[in-house]
This record gives sequence, structure tokens and C-alpha cells, in this order.
Amino acid sequence: VSALETNLGPGREFDRIRLMAARWRGRARGLGDDCAFIEAGGERLAVSTDLSIEGVHFRREWLTPGEIGYRAVAAALSDLAAVAAEPLAVLLSFGIPEWLDDAGLEELAAGAGDAAGDAGAVIAGGDTSRSPQLICDACVVGRAAAPVLRRGARPGDVLVVSGTLGASAAALEGLLAGAQPPAALRARFARPPSRHALARFLAAHGARAMIDISDGLAADLGHLLAAGETGASLDVAALPVHPAAAEWAAARGEEPWRLAARSGEEYELIAALPPSVADDRLAAAPVALARIGVVEAEVGLRAHLAGAPVSLPPGFDHFGT
Ligand SMILES: [Mg+2]
Repeated sequence: VSALETNLGPGREFDRIRLMAARWRGRARGLGDDCAFIEAGGERLAVSTDLSIEGVHFRREWLTPGEIGYRAVAAALSDLAAVAAEPLAVLLSFGIPEWLDDAGLEELAAGAGDAAGDAGAVIAGGDTSRSPQLICDACVVGRAAAPVLRRGARPGDVLVVSGTLGASAAALEGLLAGAQPPAALRARFARPPSRHALARFLAAHGARAMIDISDGLAADLGHLLAAGETGASLDVAALPVHPAAAEWAAARGEEPWRLAARSGEEYELIAALPPSVADDRLAAAPVALARIGVVEAEVGLRAHLAGAPVSLPPGFDHFGT
């Protein structure tokens, strides 16, 4: 068994994971999916950890401590949704800087607790330390009776994405420019959605592969296809664009579908479903699903608009500057 069980595709973040995995060899196992799977006592647990660092993932001027806590835990829990695991517990480690007073820490903790509660999980432990900047690390544990992995998509499968996209990137652009973005955009950035019920729905409808959108639809769909060693055709006109994000893009001369395709930290789900899943069954999903493309045998992601090929924007680079 190789340490890296899932083909990761290109990129600097993945190069660094490959570097470590090569060093670990037999000391690591099953790396490369949204969660690790640990079997214990006849049960399979899904476990994942997610790091949120002030100055890297957020700036303290952008968000309240409560929002920072909510966002960090919701982002970590999203990896459980990505494998259709039922959230059970969160272990929460905080690096606490001088600027965060006790009232701020209470708010941070309350936000983190709300995100756990919204997903049906409890805070079960953690660690704290002083730190030069605020650090939130959330380790999440879920029950994964029948996990859906990144790999597993087959040629002919229908690709769907949940909710609407673009608001998170638009909000981030506003914040980076030093302005408060419109409330509808800011809300998507500050309080990411919880897609656990949807994940169970997709698993129950035979989802063969799934991933959550953290780096952007184009990038994360690329990860799903790389994992399954398949390709896809993507109809960018079918991407569900958040209405306020569409306005934001149009006002800046960007095609709205481009904003939707590159927007990271959306925490919506992409799934590959068998072609036999009928539209009327998908219409019963707890969150709206858009059919955006079809899995193909030929490796690579081929995007098109009204029949003409288009190039996709790059996604978030974890080691970019
Ligand atoms: Mg993920």
C-alpha cells in the first residue's frame, strides 16, 4: 500500500504533500482524500484537520472573532460532508495572540461552537497556546458507514454542483480592496454553508465521487477528475452564479461564470452521479443542484460556452504569494 492512495494532480501544495509522503513511505497510509479513514471496533471513522491562520486565511479586520471561529470549524466540517460522513466531534486548537482579549476569546469559542452545533457535532477537546497570530486548527471526526471518495467517477456520470458560487471570491475581493462588500456577499464569506444533509442525499442517490469546493470549482473538479484518472466536459453556462456575485462580476467587466469557476472557500459540493439519476429525483435535494457537465474517459477538463471551448481560471494556490 502506498502512502499516497489518491492521485493528487499538479500543484505546489500537492508537490509538498508528495515530498512528505515519499519520506514517510510505509509510515503513512491512505493520504490524499478529503478525510482519513480509521477503522475501529467494526466502525469506520472519517477524520480531517484544517488550519486557519491570521494573515494567511483571514485578516482580523475582516471578521469578528465569532465569525473567525465559525468559519474555521465550518471549513473543517466541510471535509466530512465531502465524504458523506456524519459529523460527531470537533477537537479545537487555538493559538491565541495578545490582541484577542477574554471577550474576544468567548466570541471565538461561541462561533466555533455554533458551527459544530449546526452540523450536529460536539466540541470534544483541543489545545491552546499563546501565539504571535490567531491560529484555529479544527480536527473533525465523523462516522463514515459508506464514504464517497474523490475517486470513483466513471465516464458518462453526470456532474452536479450545489447552491450558488462566486460570492466568496467577490467578498474577498471587496475586503482586499479595503471595503465592506455587500451584505449578501459578506455573509457567504463569513458564515460558510453546511452541506451535511445534502451529502447524505447525494450518497443515497448513488454518488460515485465527491469533493467540497475549497480551492474553486475549476480546481476542485480537477482534483476529483485527477483522483479518478478521468476527464470531463464542463458547460460553464450551467454554473450556478450567486446573483449578487454576478452583479459584482459584471460591474468589473468579468464574465460571471469565471468568477463562479474560480471562487474558493465556497464549501459547496461537487458530485459525480450515475446517469440514471433522473432530474425529478435531483429536484428533491435539500439544496439546489445544477448539472454542469459529464465525466469522460479522456483525461483533462474541457470547458465550453455555447459550444465553443473556453479556458478556465486557475484556483487558489495554498503556497502562492
Ligand atoms: Mg476538501
